[in-house]
Amino acid sequence: MKKYLNLGLIGYPLGHSISPLIHNESFKAAGIDGNYRLFPVLPMPNGENELLSVIEKMRRGELDGLNVTIPHKTTVIDYLDRLDPVSRAVEAVNTIYLKDDLLIGTNTDVSGFINDLARQPRFAENKSALRNSGDSQHALVLGAGGAARAIVYGLLSKGWKVTIAARRIEQANKIAHSHNNSSKLNTIKTISLNKLELLGFKTRISLVINTTPLGMFPDTDKCPWPNVIPFPQDTFIYDLVYNPLETKMIQKARAEKLGNASGIGMLVEQAAESFFIWTGVQPPRQILLDTAINYLDNSKKEIQK
Ligand code: NAP
Repeated sequence: MKKYLNLGLIGYPLGHSISPLIHNESFKAAGIDGNYRLFPVLPMPNGENELLSVIEKMRRGELDGLNVTIPHKTTVIDYLDRLDPVSRAVEAVNTIYLKDDLLIGTNTDVSGFINDLARQPRFAENKSALRNSGDSQHALVLGAGGAARAIVYGLLSKGWKVTIAARRIEQANKIAHSHNNSSKLNTIKTISLNKLELLGFKTRISLVINTTPLGMFPDTDKCPWPNVIPFPQDTFIYDLVYNPLETKMIQKARAEKLGNASGIGMLVEQAAESFFIWTGVQPPRQILLDTAINYLDNSKKEIQK
């Protein structure tokens, strides 16, 4: 490995990103010298030159690894030499690495989510039972964007049945189509993300996952699930939003005494997986998680002052 590693994140806007905090902590814990920088790249077409320039830095070896976030997870694919099977299936890249002079795209959101879900006692206990019994659990995924594609792929690969609820049902249908065609399992259904459909949705659900940005700072009073409708009984609520740590959706889950998790665990897991790809070193998850949670708690206190 090189003596000093240069890593970074492409996306826009990046002002509130805590990825540098997590990766710089990973460097420290792993005893590796390096830094992780932000590369704000405007959405296409305005960001084209900038995107090309950052990618070229990586080809020249001036950068050793890149993460990619909104709005470039799909557009960046055209600038790479290869995709691994996961990012090809998800049609989105969040991590780029160089191997044999080739730029390769992968997607650690998938393993990040699945690893964090497995950390939740309820799903850790059920993991082997799930695999052996063939009796799939059913998840309801809210939203049908890039993160939803990663979550759906991860859940299907672990044997879950999935329903996608989206405000534009055609987006949900697109995801369902790509999987129902390739797996022949026909395990994805779609509904509209509105009060009436959610009220009428009677399938037994073990997990509801928010993949929309609703509830994210600064619009913290928003919630993708209508307040007047209780969550399905005995469901685990997983909100991909992590800023704030306690979103309206998580507050509602707690009020209904349901198990719940914010997206901070997934954020740390996907970052740690990327770090491992670039360095070959597994950073200590718990230290990264504590650092990220402390930071978000402190910024909340600053805002409340
Ligand atoms: P995206 O590709 O823009 O997709 C967002 C999805 O949310 C789309 O389906 C969009 O519907 C829907 N949506 C947006 N506003 C909505 C509203 N007012 N009502 C109903 N649906 C709405 O974004 P993404 O990459 O999937 O990311 C989504 C969220 O996940 C972001 O908050 C991101 O920070 C978070 N995330 C977290 C992690 C983590 O590690 N914790 C990882 C990835 C993403 P339309 O298509 O109709 O606009």
